Amino acid sequence: MIKKNKNNFIKKIITHDLKTKKFTYIKTRFPPEPNGYLHLGHAKAICLNFGIARDYQGHCNLRFDDTNPDKTKIKYIKSIKSDIQWLGFKWNGKTRYTSEYFEILYEYAIQLINKNLAYVDLLDKTKIREYRGTLTLPGKNSPYRNHTIQKNIILFEKMKKGQFKSGSACLRAKIDMNSNSMIMRDPVLYRIIFTPHETSKNSWYIYPTYDFSHCISDAIENITHSLCTLEFSDNRKIYDWIIKNLNIKHVPHQYEYSRLHLEYSILSKRKLQILINNKIIENWDDPRIPTISGLRKRGYTAQSIINFCEKIGITKQENIIELSLLESCIRQELNNTAPRRMAVLNPIKVVIINFPINHVEKLIVPNHPTRPELGTRTLLFTQELYIDRNDFSEKDNPNYKRLTLHQEVRLRYAYIIKVQKIEKDSNDNIINIFCTYDNSTLGKQPKNRIINGVIHWVSLTYSYTAEFRIYNKLFNIKNPENEKKFLNYINTTSLIIKKGFIESNINKNNLPCTYQFEREGYFYIESIKDNNLIFNQITTLKDKNKNDHNHKK
Ligand code: ATP
Ligand code: MG
Repeated sequence: MIKKNKNNFIKKIITHDLKTKKFTYIKTRFPPEPNGYLHLGHAKAICLNFGIARDYQGHCNLRFDDTNPDKTKIKYIKSIKSDIQWLGFKWNGKTRYTSEYFEILYEYAIQLINKNLAYVDLLDKTKIREYRGTLTLPGKNSPYRNHTIQKNIILFEKMKKGQFKSGSACLRAKIDMNSNSMIMRDPVLYRIIFTPHETSKNSWYIYPTYDFSHCISDAIENITHSLCTLEFSDNRKIYDWIIKNLNIKHVPHQYEYSRLHLEYSILSKRKLQILINNKIIENWDDPRIPTISGLRKRGYTAQSIINFCEKIGITKQENIIELSLLESCIRQELNNTAPRRMAVLNPIKVVIINFPINHVEKLIVPNHPTRPELGTRTLLFTQELYIDRNDFSEKDNPNYKRLTLHQEVRLRYAYIIKVQKIEKDSNDNIINIFCTYDNSTLGKQPKNRIINGVIHWVSLTYSYTAEFRIYNKLFNIKNPENEKKFLNYINTTSLIIKKGFIESNINKNNLPCTYQFEREGYFYIESIKDNNLIFNQITTLKDKNKNDHNHKK
């Protein structure tokens, strides 16, 4: 049901349209161009369109805008469909393709020519641009603008038959070369492309433009509210012009909302492809980019992405969303759901000299600090352990709440240990920290004894080797989308690989899986290759910069 507090301006329009009986049903569509993988911006559009269909008991179609055979690829269609399903949405009926409407669109084009509202222009691309004028200069009519209807029909037929070279002819709407809107200065409706079309079985040499095909496709599908982003505001004029001049009965309406921009990120398929081509990222599912597949590989859940989209809302204001808001969405979820484990990312060996050699002590510990229903696990405590290199310092410092030569710490869930001596190699690197443990301190806090902190550990004998992939921002500026040379702002440490150890309480047969590694963050393991455990860091435990967001819009 419609939730009042979640009413954005589009929902207000819809509620009004239903009340005034402008429409008696609601139908939206999600119209991706299959020229890349979906990203978080598309998730915003998906949540909006499918969300409206859900809230108003309407329908949302999935329609691939496959009007450009140079860009359309079957592999993108497959990934887009599976991403939408992964997000938990179901489109209405069959998958639709603009290419299914090529015949109808062609007939509509003929109709426009017959009404003397469209003509074949034989100017080349440069000339067309030149004749279009500028924001301050009016355009000029093409010398071909006054061809007879008959001649235009013949020329358009020639275009269709592939008798013109690509770029030497196009079909244009006859609107107004003096219009204040550049977009209304005889926009192109059809262009010639000889590339074979991957999705449609028909072979065409002419393809409709977005402006011509989108409004007609919306009308064919009885879409009521055609929602797109603000850069299409001007295109609405053509949208309405075409529907009106073709006397199409069902009149869909276009509304625009602001695009999602995310700090330190690129949300443009074209630019993401540039990152791949330049080998800055591995592929469309690289966990450093905000594609749906990248976020999934990183360990984000569908629900966390949906929550994020809800928090950012739908408005007409252009702004850039803080990356920390996205991180807080997954953190809030995983804090509650992720079982805890211990993993050592920068291992250094600790030998407990007073612990019996070959002895194994079993420690039963909870999987989650506040959810006993998540059960317990057994940690194995042995003489040789690993702790994190950063949890030991040779210098004493009261502000350093970890192990030093004279400051004791507690090993999480286990004993208090104290350093006796350290052993270094010829390069002055510590290779062994020899400690003693106090066997009276298991689960007990001795009175009047200052314990410097609690650190995590794993048993050297009973642990798995693992690789930890730590991801950082891909760009070192907040708004790389504003920069023409965005490749100059790549963060060279966006991926740091660490080799360490993890406690053996990992069910390798139950993957993918997400854990909170105590003190280290949330990690995701997708699958195991050649017995190799590879964990992707989803996010840190706390926002490094500030307090966690709380339902902030
Ligand atoms: P890109 O620049 O990434 O190619 P696009 O707008 O060309 O984006 P389409 O495949 O045409 O991508 O988009 C499908 C739908 O998703 C459109 O309705 C579009 O407005 C919407 N969309 C795309 N990017 C964003 C974004 N950053 N924020 C919100 N909606 C978006
Ligand atoms: Mg596009």
